[in-house]
Amino acid sequence: MTTAQPQFDAVVVGAGFSGLYMLHRLRDTLGMSAVVFEAGDDVGGTWYWNRYPGARCDSESYFYSFSDRLSEDLLQEWTWSERFAAQPEILRYLSHVADRYDLRRDIRFGTRVVAAEYGDGDGTWTVTTDAGDRVTATYLITAVGCLSTTNLPEFPGRESFRGESFHTGLWPHDGVDFTGKRVAVIGTGATAVQVVPEIAEQAEHLYVLQRTANYDIAGGNRPMDDEDGRRIKENYTEIWATTRETGFGFPYHTQNRSALSVSDAERRQIFTEAWETGGFRLGTTFNDLLLDEKANETAAEFLRERIRERVTDPAVAELLSPRDHPFFTKRPPLENGYYDTFNRENVTLVDVRTVPISEITPTGVRTADAEYEVDAIVYATGFDAMTGTLFTLGIRGRDGRDLRDKWADGPRSYLGVATHGFPNLFMITGPQSPSVLSNMPVSIEQHVDWITDCLRDQRAHGLDTIEALPDAEDDWVDHHDEVTAATLLPRANSWWVGANIPGKPRSLYPYVGGVGTYRLICDAVANRDYDGFARGTGGAATSGGFTGVARATFADVLAAAAAP
Ligand code: FAD
Ligand code: NAP
Repeated sequence: MTTAQPQFDAVVVGAGFSGLYMLHRLRDTLGMSAVVFEAGDDVGGTWYWNRYPGARCDSESYFYSFSDRLSEDLLQEWTWSERFAAQPEILRYLSHVADRYDLRRDIRFGTRVVAAEYGDGDGTWTVTTDAGDRVTATYLITAVGCLSTTNLPEFPGRESFRGESFHTGLWPHDGVDFTGKRVAVIGTGATAVQVVPEIAEQAEHLYVLQRTANYDIAGGNRPMDDEDGRRIKENYTEIWATTRETGFGFPYHTQNRSALSVSDAERRQIFTEAWETGGFRLGTTFNDLLLDEKANETAAEFLRERIRERVTDPAVAELLSPRDHPFFTKRPPLENGYYDTFNRENVTLVDVRTVPISEITPTGVRTADAEYEVDAIVYATGFDAMTGTLFTLGIRGRDGRDLRDKWADGPRSYLGVATHGFPNLFMITGPQSPSVLSNMPVSIEQHVDWITDCLRDQRAHGLDTIEALPDAEDDWVDHHDEVTAATLLPRANSWWVGANIPGKPRSLYPYVGGVGTYRLICDAVANRDYDGFARGTGGAATSGGFTGVARATFADVLAAAAAP
């Protein structure tokens, strides 16, 4: 058979943090040809779409950015204006990165991938878009984000609403003025916690429809001054090194002590200091908050106390206090004024757990016992995370097998970066990698760098085909499930376990073994000639073997940690 050369070495889908860095590595590090397809009209991904008022990062900006892996100069030149930068500033940053590395010329904007099919005959991916592109490439790399497909619940009558409705993840670019309007916000997750205080300032009346109360942590946002900038810039080498070692990709370690090993007074002091520092440090005060129910409850009760201090009406404070899941088993939002909002006269908290939303009417939201007449509805209802977007790409692997069919009972991957039956497909922050259980730029860079090294190695050995072996995949999924079962994470109905989407298979979608450990595992796999992958040319891949180095590395890390 004569086969045409593929047009590109790689097709990348998505132009957020992941797609931008991947394109840079493919083109400027490896000298490969690549095209990026991006559904949005510009770069930015999350920060292009989520323009709701109050949108800002919850990872501190100085480490919610590209590291010295991209450029030391950029780190020294760029100065963040706030501890947690707002969406426009993050978007400006990503736009600056795109300009600095001249990335836009290889990105086709306003172009959505609708099919990606692997050709068994020639080992090439054919990618089709809604703009009529049909291109071929050796490698298909998804950089589609974990949170880029919005979840709009199917409330009866939703389309009948005569006012304006918005999903926070598809916010109008020219903004929305809620002045003098009656507004309902559905949801109380990380997005709602940011948008609610902003809308409350404008609206005549705001109804916040809460199904599940969350453990919101003090954000502690503030402007960054010259001294902050200088201190951070001087310490960047150490900061990035630490993010790569820690469990969650943050530049601080989880303290190696149990919450139950200290006195009540000492524990309170530790929690209070972390609370006053702001941000996710509270989650790293003790090493068993995610492992032991009693330890967890100490943090949970500390947070409930903070709610009671802030919210003047005891009944409202109680309704805002989570009782049905342990702390951090749903993503805790960072709040900057959320709880105080409920002391305002123009804000009402509505319990839609006890009395659920029954329908959307032409004039508002109805529950079994009330109707809330509003001019606007804001759906802060989240995303079909991790697999939701991957499934919209129409990915078909060997023998035309649809990824949706393979993962009908839940995702099965090797290291969250590859999946058997789909050769030459790499998923940046795919399911069963640390991804959303981490500060994501750190995990994104790790995946992109690992893929880059892998492609370099392929080329050095004259290979152009690579596929995860089924044994390796089974082993990784078993390991992932074992690590998950050791934590409290399966206890909550979170989007992390797919519980927010009716019918979605229940499983922990991200990997909770830790960013640092995961990096060691991926490096060990690469160092053993890509243990667990079959490699070859022209679509034919032969097994390089499978020694289970991934799991063994995890066991080694645990043993080393336990050593005196
Ligand atoms: P994205 O930024 O989601 O980009 C993916 C891109 O792929 C999108 O632009 C999308 O249009 C495109 N795409 C998808 N499907 C297709 C298709 N079929 N064809 C073409 N293009 C397609 N993480 C943190 O670590 N810290 C934070 O503080 C933080 N804050 C967040 C705040 C919000 C409001 C949200 C929603 C998420 C936040 N996250 C945070 C997670 C955030 O998604 C990641 O940090 C990061 O931005 C992901 O980058 P990405 O490039 O992988 O994906
Ligand atoms: P989310 O955490 O999934 O929250 C969605 C909210 O909508 C929940 O309160 C949910 O209730 C509610 N909801 C969904 N369907 C409902 C229904 N049918 N009836 C009533 N309520 C319903 O989504 P999100 O707030 O957009 O956040 C998603 C993720 O994006 C975050 O966890 C975080 O990773 C990321 N994010 C980050 C930041 C940041 O870092 N600054 C900001 C925003 C988002 P239940 O809890 O009962 O399901």
